[in-house]
Amino acid sequence: MQYVGRFAPSPSGPLHFGSLIAALGSYLQARANQGRWLVRIEDIDPPREVEGSADAILHTLDAYGLHWDDKVLYQHTRYDAYQSQIETWLTNGNAYYCQCTRRQIKDAGGIYPGTCRQRSLDSEHSAVRICIDNPVCEFIDVKHGAIKLDGAMASEDFIIKRRDGLFAYNLAVVLDDIFQGVTEVVRGADLIEPTGRQVSLYQKLGASPVSYLHLPLALNADRNKLSKQNHAPAIDNANPGPALEAALAFLGHPIPVDLHGAKVEELLLWGIENWQINKLPAATEVITAF
Ligand code: GLU
Repeated sequence: MQYVGRFAPSPSGPLHFGSLIAALGSYLQARANQGRWLVRIEDIDPPREVEGSADAILHTLDAYGLHWDDKVLYQHTRYDAYQSQIETWLTNGNAYYCQCTRRQIKDAGGIYPGTCRQRSLDSEHSAVRICIDNPVCEFIDVKHGAIKLDGAMASEDFIIKRRDGLFAYNLAVVLDDIFQGVTEVVRGADLIEPTGRQVSLYQKLGASPVSYLHLPLALNADRNKLSKQNHAPAIDNANPGPALEAALAFLGHPIPVDLHGAKVEELLLWGIENWQINKLPAATEVITAF
């Protein structure tokens, strides 16, 4: 079976060094496995999106030589598929409407206790939750081996469609990875915790599981994740070399001195030829000055 990997940014701001790590790691792992590498824009949360950032992200990937296969998939074009799966689950008893408020859940201890499972509510002012009867408390990560997850979180009937009508990340990501034939998910270690929920959805769907590789998360000197919300600076499109060299070093693949200052194509070629998962840092969080 051919390897299919992907990079799935949310268009909530420009690409920063932290997201370059996820893009580069997933790209190198796909290309080193003679695989295809897809890009998906996860635009399912309009209130958190910044206009123009989807195009800006794609432009930056191009400037860094990270060329993708096939057409970019935009999640906003997939709403019908998400809705139809939700309706199937509502009909066959695998999902239900819920009207509990955050406050009520907090008062119940923070983990949703399944209150609305038996209430037969209708769709108005309701979120939709999936019934989790076989919680996934552990998964195998290609780098880190068996990762144990919080049991209470894993057994929660989690939201697949929000009360405000927006589809949940866990639902969209799984349906689209299956739709796009993705065989391995390579992304930042900040997404380790929701992986159990995603594996649960694969099981519900009877779909073949994917493998997972979580890359170390880039932290700033204050130990905060580099993120669009923290206003991590955009990386430079006009001069991609320094950030690309720093990203390779961050992933445990410092370039040889004679390649210093080379074109991005050459740096990436070197990265593909020398890529080894065992060179990735063992830690899931790494401080960067970049
Ligand atoms: N869209 C998510 C993000 O930008 C990543 C999703 C994933 O890789 O599973 O954080």
